[in-house]
Amino acid sequence: MLAEDGEILRVFLNSQEQWYFPPDPEKQIPLKLQKALLTYEDRHFYRHFGVNPGAIVRAIKQNIDHHKIISGASTINMQVTRMMRHKPRTLVNKIIEIGLAVRLEVYYPKDEILRIYLENAPFGGNIIGYQTASYKYFNKPPEQLTWSEAATLAVLPNAPGIIAPQIDHSRLIAKRNMLLKQLLTESVIDEETYTTACLETVIEGTYDFPFLAPHLAENLKRKTAGESEFIHTTIDNQAQEYLEYLVQDHLKFLKSQGIKNGAILVVDNKNGEIRAYVGSQDFFDSVNGGQVDGVAAPRSSGSILKPFLYALAMDHGLLIPQSVLVDIPTYYGSYSPANANNTYDGLVTANDALIRSLNVPAVRLLKEYGIAPFYQFLKKVGVSHLYMSADEYGLPLILGGAEVSLADLAVLYHGLSHGGIFTPLNVIQSDNDNEVSAKSPIHTQERLFSESACYLTLEILRELKRPGAEYYWHQYQNQWPIAWKTGTSYGQRDAWAVGVSPQWLIAVWIGNFTGEPNTNLAGAKSAGTLLFDVYNYLPKDAEKCWFETPYWDMEEIEICTETGYIASEACPHHKTIYAPITKNPLKRCPYHHSICVTLDNEYQVCSRCWEGEGHKNINVIEYPPGVAYYLQLRGNYPDRIPSHNPDCQYFAGNKSMEIIYPDQDAYIWIPRDYDGNYQKITFKAVHLHPDIKIYWYLDDLFLGVTEKHHTVACTAEKGWHELQIVDADGQRDQKKFYIEIKSNLSYQK
Ligand SMILES: [Zn+2]
Ligand SMILES: [Zn+2]
Repeated sequence: MLAEDGEILRVFLNSQEQWYFPPDPEKQIPLKLQKALLTYEDRHFYRHFGVNPGAIVRAIKQNIDHHKIISGASTINMQVTRMMRHKPRTLVNKIIEIGLAVRLEVYYPKDEILRIYLENAPFGGNIIGYQTASYKYFNKPPEQLTWSEAATLAVLPNAPGIIAPQIDHSRLIAKRNMLLKQLLTESVIDEETYTTACLETVIEGTYDFPFLAPHLAENLKRKTAGESEFIHTTIDNQAQEYLEYLVQDHLKFLKSQGIKNGAILVVDNKNGEIRAYVGSQDFFDSVNGGQVDGVAAPRSSGSILKPFLYALAMDHGLLIPQSVLVDIPTYYGSYSPANANNTYDGLVTANDALIRSLNVPAVRLLKEYGIAPFYQFLKKVGVSHLYMSADEYGLPLILGGAEVSLADLAVLYHGLSHGGIFTPLNVIQSDNDNEVSAKSPIHTQERLFSESACYLTLEILRELKRPGAEYYWHQYQNQWPIAWKTGTSYGQRDAWAVGVSPQWLIAVWIGNFTGEPNTNLAGAKSAGTLLFDVYNYLPKDAEKCWFETPYWDMEEIEICTETGYIASEACPHHKTIYAPITKNPLKRCPYHHSICVTLDNEYQVCSRCWEGEGHKNINVIEYPPGVAYYLQLRGNYPDRIPSHNPDCQYFAGNKSMEIIYPDQDAYIWIPRDYDGNYQKITFKAVHLHPDIKIYWYLDDLFLGVTEKHHTVACTAEKGWHELQIVDADGQRDQKKFYIEIKSNLSYQK
């Protein structure tokens, strides 16, 4: 397996346990080796027609005189035919070989015959061929051999045993020096070269081949079914070597905290070629599963898929980065997502929701966008570990319900940084046999996101604060921008970080292959720091600093400054921005509207209760009570909406109170406790006025009264129920829902 520049990454033994490089017709035989070999074995090689008649006559005479085979008289041609036939050295076989040697001459040019010989000759032990011998004995490619080394290799094929490690090398030295002397005599080398060559040690033992990108190598070897061939990869062997060290070093520190495994994938983001593939902290770390391939292993995605939902939502006109999203306690049946810090902002912009990786807005967004289309998107781009249906995953899909691999993530983020066109990544050079990469499941050239949605998503991710020393990165002028996202899976089992620039794509995973959780695991802290170590190491091209704004794919729209939706007449502040051109237009600002009030702003009035000219229209921002409640908790006081004229007989009053759990017509599963009792269901409500009491009723049965924190827990029978709340002012809200009793504890999604 070769690196991008042709350097060796890894060599496997062939099926006969030999070190044997596959034939390579492109390869030039180095001149020194050629001269040394022909001088030693077959000095008339370029002049004879496959056999050397004079030598044969001499050999036959000698053989008859001594009644045994003592003289070779073999040309290179004859030796090639002998290597191919593996027959004993008898006179009959020799005659057959003479015939075949001449035939070889007819079919192959001289250089080719020489190459076949050198590629297949034995060089001692299980070392076959000159290239292997050059690396194993001298740790260098054949082009760099010295005269001494070339001469050593030249004498070996006819006496490969003399290099065996237990034998002293005096015979080998004698043979080499004799050959060097011949080369001197024939003026191939000069006196000085001869003298220094004779002084060189003949051999130092054998060297090991490099052992880089072992996980990738095993992977590709399996795919090529052990066929003897060169696999020319796109791996940068220097980067590979350094990053293998970097992961190992990073994990040394984490190991003391009980975190044992890590993996990195680095892709040249311009062309999608994989440059480094680090499958684990150490292939030889057998105690901690070092042979597991962390690049290919499926793991819980945590939040790392969120940017794709935001980009899809942008294309469907659901939001732009400035749009506010609802962030309040949210219940879908028995499922209730929570933000990592268990707080709620009431409202948060899409931009901030993604930067802070808030769970509640993301789950609400998935609900709005649809689980099925998001699931289809993941399938389409080739996420291969989606074993369940979209319904079975449900809304937790966006919080890490599904499993992805680093390789999947690299494809996903590569597509996001290529204007929404998702293509397979390459690790085999395209001029080579492309069979391996052709097996990739992704065949789409279709644009799945608009260029503008991709760009705006990357712009959001670019703002993410960097961990550790990089935190204040933006203060440094010469820092290179990068869009990056982290993820931490449920129960702190996996830490993810992916970063993209126009030039590079880096994907990092840290965790335990065993799936063991660890409280020290967190995306930014555990994986993000390593991501920036990698990014700092990689070379940067100032020309490709950041992505080009796709103005051709955008249009100017006028939005409400406060809410980030299309401005209406009721929105006091407008601004014009560039947004994706979408089929479904972005919705109008849902929160600003015009109300009719008395001239002193005291009361809202309607046509039924206003008197003469004593009213006017004003614009207000009005949020649902749940949102307003959490905005207030955060110290954001929205406009005070005047209450409706109390004398109006037609208006029931303003809504300042709301049941937020359960939803209307919710279907709720109640599991049993360990001791067999039904678990309680907890109802929640909010009230805008902090001091007002709420009275609770379930099916007209009084449950209790709450103050400030409005939650009530109770048990309920199977069937339909109605929950009703009433406040001290007589304001009411009610929700109907259905209870289903689960017979055992197995229900857990
Ligand atoms: Zn507005
Ligand atoms: Zn009225």
